[in-house]
Amino acid sequence: MKFNTKAIHGGQENVDPGYGSVMAPIYQTSTFSQTSPGSHKGFEYARSGNPTRDALEKAIASIENGKHGLAFGSGLAAIDAILKTLKPGDEVISTNDLYGGTYRLFNGIYKNFGIKFHFVGMQGATAIESFITTNTKMIWAETPTNPMMNILDIKAIAQISKKHKLLLAVDNTFATAYLQQPLDLGADIVMHSTTKYLGGHSDVISGSIVVNDDKLAEQLYFIQNASGAIAGPMDSFLVLRGIKTLHLRMQRHCENGKAVAEFLQRHPKVEKVYWPGLQDHPNHEIAKKQMKDFGGMVSFSLKGGSTKDAVRFLEHLNVFTLAESLGGVESLAGHPATMTHASIPKEERKKIGVVDSLIRLSVGVEDKEDLLSDLKQALS
Ligand SMILES: *Cc1c(COP(=O)(O)O)cnc(C)c1O
Repeated sequence: MKFNTKAIHGGQENVDPGYGSVMAPIYQTSTFSQTSPGSHKGFEYARSGNPTRDALEKAIASIENGKHGLAFGSGLAAIDAILKTLKPGDEVISTNDLYGGTYRLFNGIYKNFGIKFHFVGMQGATAIESFITTNTKMIWAETPTNPMMNILDIKAIAQISKKHKLLLAVDNTFATAYLQQPLDLGADIVMHSTTKYLGGHSDVISGSIVVNDDKLAEQLYFIQNASGAIAGPMDSFLVLRGIKTLHLRMQRHCENGKAVAEFLQRHPKVEKVYWPGLQDHPNHEIAKKQMKDFGGMVSFSLKGGSTKDAVRFLEHLNVFTLAESLGGVESLAGHPATMTHASIPKEERKKIGVVDSLIRLSVGVEDKEDLLSDLKQALS
């Protein structure tokens, strides 16, 4: 199957053996009856497995071209499970321009459990090698990065991770499997906050992992069951429904993202626009090679801007909603310095370009004329 067909049908054979419902039913149950101890229809207790979650896990594995999918109660719960494959003393090389919550989990929790993190600019993949020690176990990458929209060369990073026998985990939340498939590029683990584009309707918090390796899948399944941060049946249903229109929504997100990025680039009050589809984006060539299109996430800074200017702009938007998060059908705008990235110290923030006037847009699937005129009036 090709991608669009997979988005709808991937892993979805016989989702309801009882009545043949086309959509996987919401099995809102904590447990499953047994005819004799240990004799059941494949499910025992719903932390260990639930048919709705199972359908979602197969769908996610299918669109990422992976063998095994696992669904969690949030994107961070998925990252947490990945980190639990490590032991005290292990080291992780992580991109320095990453989701604030991921940074908080690494630095605020796992550091205290004896795991050492190196936060490194990964645009030149070779910079990674100088941080590798005998204790290094994992490389953590996110591309496009949040909120600066840098593009990391997954294939080049995968070559390094393979050479040193490390695990490469890629947070694919921003791009989604529609734009890039990290496992095909050599990654070992692909992770999603399915809260975002995969869910696609801003109505659920959820996360997932996809891997190819059977042993790694077994280890992650053990952690999922042992730690218990699973996706519930209702949430699994919502994400599964979202995936079925992922390709349609992404196509429009990309079209609108392009229109917004080009509009902002021409606007006299805008200092700089960060969108990988722009010719002058520093990683445009890698983006072109690695991604099918350039996505609907656009960041930009205001000329001579302060937090005050950014706040004034955000308060004047009408069609764009001022809110955290991204990837839903509706356009959202946010202020990374005080919202999504407030947990990163100001000095660290500045180093990676998250200036006070930086604004991040999640461009939705509305009519682009309405989006452009909203931006225009708020800028004026
Ligand atoms: C939102 C997000 C997360 C965290 O996911 P939650 O579902 O909010 O726990 C991780 N990575 C990226 C890139 C995100 O945007």
